[in-house]
Amino acid sequence: MKLILLGPPGAGKGTQAQRLVNKHKIVQLSTGDMLRAAVKAGTPIGIIAKDIMDRGELVPDEVVVGIVADRIEEPDAQKGFILDGFPRTVPQAEALDRMLEEKGLTLDGVIELKVDDGMLLDRIEKRVSDTVARGEPVRADDNPETLKKRLIAYYAQTAPLTAYYAQKGRLSRLDGMASIEQVALAIDRILGAKTAAKASRKVVAPARQASKPARAKASPKKKAASKPKPAKKAVKSVAAKRKKAVRRAAPKKRPGRR
Ligand code: ADP
Repeated sequence: MKLILLGPPGAGKGTQAQRLVNKHKIVQLSTGDMLRAAVKAGTPIGIIAKDIMDRGELVPDEVVVGIVADRIEEPDAQKGFILDGFPRTVPQAEALDRMLEEKGLTLDGVIELKVDDGMLLDRIEKRVSDTVARGEPVRADDNPETLKKRLIAYYAQTAPLTAYYAQKGRLSRLDGMASIEQVALAIDRILGAKTAAKASRKVVAPARQASKPARAKASPKKKAASKPKPAKKAVKSVAAKRKKAVRRAAPKKRPGRR
């Protein structure tokens, strides 16, 4: 399973990623964690990243893209991964698309957790007090001032990704303000539906059978690269419906003009 979790800082991506890691035995690839580790270890990347992160700005695309490209080659990522905090800009998303295409992989989903700014601040404050209570060091960028900058960076540079993935028919949006359990359930439902759809495509396509129950076992063969693109069709059919609706609606308006 290859999944992207999108959402502002404090949206709950890390919490949900941890649960999915345990459930699906895949790895969580958090670029924030990787960069913090690099800063701590004082590597060349860490030295570049430290001040940028402390200011709440984004580390240059080529730096994070390089880190992720190396990381997804590691053996533990072969079974699947959850990207948390990456991609964060459209060029990063394009680089990820190229990376996955080269490896013959496709994403299983992009899930956006939507949360209001007010609640984000509360959550970050709680994260800080929980960290202090555990006697652990607080993240240098977990303070109201830097959070504001991180949010500005999010809305300017990361939020456009929702349109990027929506256009590809990949995006699922969730209410990230619901409880952890409710969000978890909603994610499971989305992933269940996607897995079922994928399995039924694999079963039906080669044999040209009538549609089978979605639960049917999928063929183990990988055929990611030449898979049909239902996402585009869905977008098209929505566009077509909208056009029809507009056409239908148009004559009704005319009598008013007389
Ligand atoms: P948050 O809790 O704000 O989502 P993260 O732990 O994901 O934060 O990241 C912390 C910081 O690390 C970011 O503010 C940014 O400076 C840097 N960072 C993490 N991921 C990326 C990325 N994909 N591109 C650029 N910078 C990143």
